[in-house]
Amino acid sequence: MQQYIGTFRQSYFAYAGDELIREHAASGGVITALLDFALRSKRIDGALVCSTAVIDGHVVPQFTIAADRQTLLTAQGSKYIAVDFNRDALPLIRAFKGRLAVVALPCDLTNLRRLAEHDESIREKLILTIGLFCGHNSRPELTEMVVDKIKPAGAVLTDYRYRQGHWRGELEACFDNGDVIHKPFSYFSDYQNLFYFCQQKCHHCHDHTAYQADISIGDIWSLRMKENPIKHNAIIVRSESGAAIFEAALQAGAIKGQPEPIEEICEGQARSLPFHYNVSARARAGKKLGIAVKDPMQTRVRWFEFLTAYMALKNEKRSRGPEGMKEVAHIPRFILKLKLYVMKGLESI
Ligand SMILES: Cc1cc2nc3c(=O)[nH]c(=O)nc-3n(C[C@H](O)[C@H](O)[C@H](O)COP(=O)(O)OP(=O)(O)OC[C@H]3O[C@@H](n4cnc5c(N)ncnc54)[C@H](O)[C@@H]3O)c2cc1C
Ligand code: SF4
Repeated sequence: MQQYIGTFRQSYFAYAGDELIREHAASGGVITALLDFALRSKRIDGALVCSTAVIDGHVVPQFTIAADRQTLLTAQGSKYIAVDFNRDALPLIRAFKGRLAVVALPCDLTNLRRLAEHDESIREKLILTIGLFCGHNSRPELTEMVVDKIKPAGAVLTDYRYRQGHWRGELEACFDNGDVIHKPFSYFSDYQNLFYFCQQKCHHCHDHTAYQADISIGDIWSLRMKENPIKHNAIIVRSESGAAIFEAALQAGAIKGQPEPIEEICEGQARSLPFHYNVSARARAGKKLGIAVKDPMQTRVRWFEFLTAYMALKNEKRSRGPEGMKEVAHIPRFILKLKLYVMKGLESI
């Protein structure tokens, strides 16, 4: 378990004390509550967050440095679309004058930490880093395909939310003809969970819980939490500075929650954690499929791990290019569901 989690001080289940923050949150709203608390208590002057814009009918991720609550609220929710942190976020960080919190995916935080080691001006302004748990991210084509499938004829997308609401939640798409379409999140996540349109860099990655963050935050998918009317986040507090700010937010009531054993955090990611860590399985499966995956981990690969990795890589490869997109779009939903059952079955052995 240590290898999945890295070093840490304390783990929690928690949620935002403010109902308004919970309303549009990806999960329990702890990230936004923590940033809002840090801004209000003048511990930071700004927070790097990622929102989405819709430009000419296409969803585009956009980094911003939020200095007020409204901007934090606008940036809520998970953006399951490839981001270019070095191109779009780093210049904002470099230009910002003041104390900064950064929310980022594990790979982007690792790069930022590496840069900060050699760049004092970045190191000095980084007060708090919050890492998202991350199974993998998706190429923009997945969002495009899902929007194409649900959009009314002739309408153009004007706004898009990947996931909101309880448990898995719903996606929301707004169009220029006034239609607002809600669909179960599975309209998107069935493809995502089968690794169609997965970013190729994710095949090489084993960091699911953001080892380099001051605080790592994700969802909880344990059945014990499904009936809980308030969605909670899983939290891993790693650094001394992370612990100080998290405990202050708890005391102030900005965040509500309690310590939970780290095993409970792992239970909430029971299938995805071992899969993600096992780069060796993807390297072996990649050899059969002509996909080169570097294997620095050299971990044991059991037959079911090989098969799961093989399915994931095969699906990713199949979804490449315009032809791939067309092919995947035509897979009947019951076949997708069947494939998911097989994959989940293999992951659960
Ligand atoms: C690509 C991706 C994969 C994920 N995979 C998993 C997983 O496998 N397991 C799991 O438990 N959790 C995963 N998460 C995290 C989870 O979806 C929630 O974002 C997390 O639990 C925080 O919830 P919250 O309610 O506190 O966030 P909110 O209060 O809604 O705030 C979310 C914050 O995250 C920032 N953000 C959203 N997307 C991005 C992005 N792409 N890059 C940088 N910042 C971003 C927003 O700016 C916002 O500040 C993933 C998130 C992403 C974006
Ligand atoms: S899986 Fe790894 S490489 Fe892929 S987006 Fe997540 S952190 Fe980055």
